[in-house]
Amino acid sequence: MDGGSPVPTSVVVDIDAATDELGMHAALEVARCGLDRGELPIGAVVVVEGQVIARAHTEEVSQRRLLVHAELLALEEADRQQGWDRRSATLYTTLEPCLMCLGAAATAMVGRIVWAVESDGDGAGRLARTWNDGRSPDLPHLHLPKLSGPVGAATAVELFRSYVDARADSCDPFVRWASTLVDQAHASG
Ligand SMILES: [Zn+2]
Repeated sequence: MDGGSPVPTSVVVDIDAATDELGMHAALEVARCGLDRGELPIGAVVVVEGQVIARAHTEEVSQRRLLVHAELLALEEADRQQGWDRRSATLYTTLEPCLMCLGAAATAMVGRIVWAVESDGDGAGRLARTWNDGRSPDLPHLHLPKLSGPVGAATAVELFRSYVDARADSCDPFVRWASTLVDQAHASG
């Protein structure tokens, strides 16, 4: 392996239109970089005022750690850059966020999360739909971000399919879990 294509770090992507498709396209590009490096193909970007200010793919393999989800890494990078008002930020992620990343996004006061592939196994979207009920509008930092999806699901599923196909004989639990995402998409599509 030659290490895969580099993650672009210095290019500011101007997405004035700030459409979800453009934001998700940036997240999918990062996910593909992760796939090229032997990681699960999960990418995330944080967009503020039409610009990608942070991006990351999962790094479980390269770091041999479990908390290095794409969303959390992107949120950490954005957290270092931003002031305290985060409600204009949108997190684009190629997979419905887990509880940890949803919680991190809420703590970081991200306004919206847009995801590509729903995750029956560990997605926290269902929780998010009821969490905000009854919470005071005067305390916006206690609210979970609005979630919407799917956007760009077909491309995201193809990346997961590539990941699984390259490890067809693997018993790795990450591979088994990734195959459930592909099967789930196949069943619903
Ligand atoms: Zn996560």
